Amino acid sequence: MDTKIYDVLVVGGGISGAAVGYGLVGKKKKVAVLDAPTETNMATRANVGLIWCQSKFLHLPNYAKWAFISSNLYPALVKELEEVAGLSIPVNFTGGLIPTLSEEDYKKRGDYIEKLRIALGEYKGNMIDRAELERKLPKISWGPEVCGAAWCEDDGVIDPLTLLRVFRAALPKAGVEYVQTLVYEVESNGGGYNVFTEQGVFECERLVLAAGLSNRRFVQFAMPSLPVYPDKGQVLLVERMPYVMPIPVLGVTQTFGGTTIIGFRHESSGHHTPVVPEAVALEGVWAMRVWPELGHKRILRSWSGLRVMPEDKMAIYSHLPGHPKVTIINTHSAITMAAAHTRLLPDFVLGGDLPETARGMTLKRFGFDC
Ligand SMILES: Cc1cc2nc3c(=O)[nH]c(=O)nc-3n(C[C@H](O)[C@H](O)[C@H](O)COP(=O)(O)OP(=O)(O)OC[C@H]3O[C@@H](n4cnc5c(N)ncnc54)[C@H](O)[C@@H]3O)c2cc1C
Repeated sequence: MDTKIYDVLVVGGGISGAAVGYGLVGKKKKVAVLDAPTETNMATRANVGLIWCQSKFLHLPNYAKWAFISSNLYPALVKELEEVAGLSIPVNFTGGLIPTLSEEDYKKRGDYIEKLRIALGEYKGNMIDRAELERKLPKISWGPEVCGAAWCEDDGVIDPLTLLRVFRAALPKAGVEYVQTLVYEVESNGGGYNVFTEQGVFECERLVLAAGLSNRRFVQFAMPSLPVYPDKGQVLLVERMPYVMPIPVLGVTQTFGGTTIIGFRHESSGHHTPVVPEAVALEGVWAMRVWPELGHKRILRSWSGLRVMPEDKMAIYSHLPGHPKVTIINTHSAITMAAAHTRLLPDFVLGGDLPETARGMTLKRFGFDC
């Protein structure tokens, strides 16, 4: 087979690879995204689809800011993707809610928000009482313990499978090749990089590694190990009900099709992916306290997925030691960050700087020289 030659190859076409690949449109480069389903890297197909800014990263304020930046870039990106692909993406930019079940919980969340407000300088959210929660989502019968919620207006929810499908439909229409092929290995060839795949060898000047946990293997030509680990999430899917949740609720989120996804676990169990019912049942019990009607519904199925968790829980956007033309992308909230990845990472891939907010997210923080 002939070697195929590109300016940029993106290895991995989950949500991160698709976003960066699409972001390279208009940069006058020949680009291809190489992807094949693998059993380990299923996060893009297993997630809830929340665009979630609140309730996280007080200890990493720039990462928190990065989520808000992405959320603000999302509406224009969705509009553009829909136009390019000729498909629509179910999405609600309506804010998001975290219900609280006790006064203590309510106060704890409120304290967190105030600290975030100080750390970020601006925060479009606050605690709301039960009456206001009922006004926001009037069709939900909240459990008697629900005393209020944390509210953030920059949160939202998108149908993640449709988002991926639309990215993939938009890529070839915008001039980026999408090639379904398993990647075996990558190596430096002196002036560029060879990517060995089941469809032969692809060659490029610049390489993006966006292959989820497989990145750990692919970086090995440049560094001994990548500081990321698999972080398991498990969810339950409850049968279809009338659509009553235009504003997403964390941990018990109704999908656009009317089913409800329950779950917010983070577990460290290596590559063990089977669902552990006794673990995910705890979230089921919590969900029924929030929204008792769920207790009368059937669970349709459950699934798990492995997030790629950098050791300090912040994203990794970095060149590799000794390889300034190789970019690695690993983050555990890549649906939330997809708009930032599309709009703000491509210049870095092509040799520019990272945006100021993301400058601390390289591998330098782990002691690598890159
Ligand atoms: C239960 C659960 C719920 C979640 N909920 C949310 C949420 O609500 N909001 C949010 O922002 N994030 C959420 N996440 C996290 C989010 O899903 C991940 O951050 C995201 O999917 C990571 O995307 P990625 O493209 O970087 O990696 P992956 O999803 O792992 O994609 C990597 C891609 O590379 C491909 N690949 C790997 N190896 C090879 C190879 N050798 N050859 C060819 N292709 C290869 C894979 O097939 C895959 O398509 C959730 C995760 C889980 C598990």
